[in-house]
Amino acid sequence: MSEPEIIRDPAEMTAWSRAARGRGARIAFVPTMGALHEGHVTLLRQARRRGDKLALSIFVNPTQFGPHEDLARYPRDLPGDLHKAAAAGTDVAFVPEAADMYPPGHQTVVEVRELARGLDGVFRPGHFAGVATVVAKLFNIVAPDVALFGEKDFQQLAIVRRMVADLSMPIEIVGVPTVREPDGLAMSSRNAYLSPAERARALTLSRALFAARDRAAAGERDAAALLSPARAALDVDRLDYLELCDAATLAPMASLDRPAVMLVAAFVGRTRLIDNVQLGATDEIQRPPAP
Ligand code: AMP
Repeated sequence: MSEPEIIRDPAEMTAWSRAARGRGARIAFVPTMGALHEGHVTLLRQARRRGDKLALSIFVNPTQFGPHEDLARYPRDLPGDLHKAAAAGTDVAFVPEAADMYPPGHQTVVEVRELARGLDGVFRPGHFAGVATVVAKLFNIVAPDVALFGEKDFQQLAIVRRMVADLSMPIEIVGVPTVREPDGLAMSSRNAYLSPAERARALTLSRALFAARDRAAAGERDAAALLSPARAALDVDRLDYLELCDAATLAPMASLDRPAVMLVAAFVGRTRLIDNVQLGATDEIQRPPAP
């Protein structure tokens, strides 16, 4: 198990990628903000099987944080990250400096419109423009054949898929199901902020979502009837949103008549957590007969 090669310079990263591709290698890519946990490692392991060369990026992207968010205290652990990346078979870790990603005078932004309007787009203004822009830059620098993203960040995954289609980027996007702790808590770098008492309350997010999924599986189709018990089950300090949305468009739904996703964002203490479950993505939904 050898440590991945570390590249800090974007031009050097592109040269590495060109050379690998010149030798006929298919490049798989997993972008992250570091503080790697089992969710990230699952993405890396799946990526390993999808390419001949595996590139990881670790970049805490300042443009996707709001002025009052946790950029300064976001967890960082490069040695630990490299160790986990090595164990997952990573060939190269691209770890750029913010000054190299955003040189003075930069002024171009990628904006995915409708998909970025609701949900986190309401509570984190500018967040998804920051995400789409940095992902587009990383795609240009790394030039992967395939890139993997977690369904944990469901809206982000939808936005990345849309951007790649809209901008004709020749990159396959693969979504990976959310990796959870044994008790159901979605893994997140931000879980490190939680005290034991906060962690216990954080668990009410996944519990509420799972209970809603069970109700849907038992036949409940009404959005309000799915949402209100879920809302009541949450023990959080501030609920940003709990919504039932169309899994493709992320538009709110009144009735579970097509594949849907229930998404939640809430603060437990000072920590903002998100989670989601997909409902009716399988055959359990009886589609109405065609007119
Ligand atoms: P982040 O470092 O939080 O930006 O996440 C990097 C990538 O890992 C994103 O595609 C996330 O969706 C994904 N990810 C984060 N947490 C999880 C998880 N618990 N399960 C699956 N993927 C995850």
